[in-house]
Amino acid sequence: MRIVIKLGTSTLAHATGRLNIRRIEHLCRVMSDLKNSGHEIILVSSGAIGMGVGKLGLGGRPDDIAAKQAAAAVGQCELMYVYDKLFTEYNHTVGQILITGLDIENGERRVNFENTLYKLLEFGALPIINENDTVSTDEIEIGDNDTLSAIVASSIGADLLIVLSDINGLYNKNPKTCPDAELIEVVKEITPEITALSDGKGVLGTGGMATKIKAAELATKSGCDMVIANGAEPELLYDIVEGKSVGTRFLKRDE
Ligand code: GLU
Repeated sequence: MRIVIKLGTSTLAHATGRLNIRRIEHLCRVMSDLKNSGHEIILVSSGAIGMGVGKLGLGGRPDDIAAKQAAAAVGQCELMYVYDKLFTEYNHTVGQILITGLDIENGERRVNFENTLYKLLEFGALPIINENDTVSTDEIEIGDNDTLSAIVASSIGADLLIVLSDINGLYNKNPKTCPDAELIEVVKEITPEITALSDGKGVLGTGGMATKIKAAELATKSGCDMVIANGAEPELLYDIVEGKSVGTRFLKRDE
């Protein structure tokens, strides 16, 4: 299977913004193993801004764009350094791709992006994609990596998109405020009722349930299942790939 895995800031970093070492080590081991078993893995990783905030000791996510861009410049280095180191331990080669909204909208740039991606897969490398936050401004940004991961999944005909976050999946009510909230295991169709279930967002990351549901719409429309699951348990990736019920699975639409 061709699998796109999206890791959110809340999965990769502690609340301080510093790297969650145990988590990222575990995730890279499981992803390496999935790759060893024959799956193609493409990673969409957030965390550049969050980790830059931690490393620069800024004390919280800045509001002004230049500070965010500077934080991303620092955090992206740390991210790639760690991914390169951990995947190399398992004999896998990573390649970094940074894009903005312009690269998706412009036909020629999009073709270049897709060609690079296909070539990396052909070479057996593991592409790691993020938004190019250092040059992104409101006008040209994709804005969140949930959307970016769905764009990637649809661009390269992925079979499965897995979005790992700090939540177990989609609930019928807000699980943070309603103790009787129930997890929705399968979504066959994204109805207005499903869209209405989105809630707020985390402290360091960008997305939330709204961007995940939007991503699910895009992915399922292009023939790709999408699963939202909790990144705190990397072993769940095995079950998700085997089609077991974990988190919330949005079923691809059959055209
Ligand atoms: N590109 C942002 C970062 O690396 C993350 C966007 C998102 O979390 O959706 O910090």
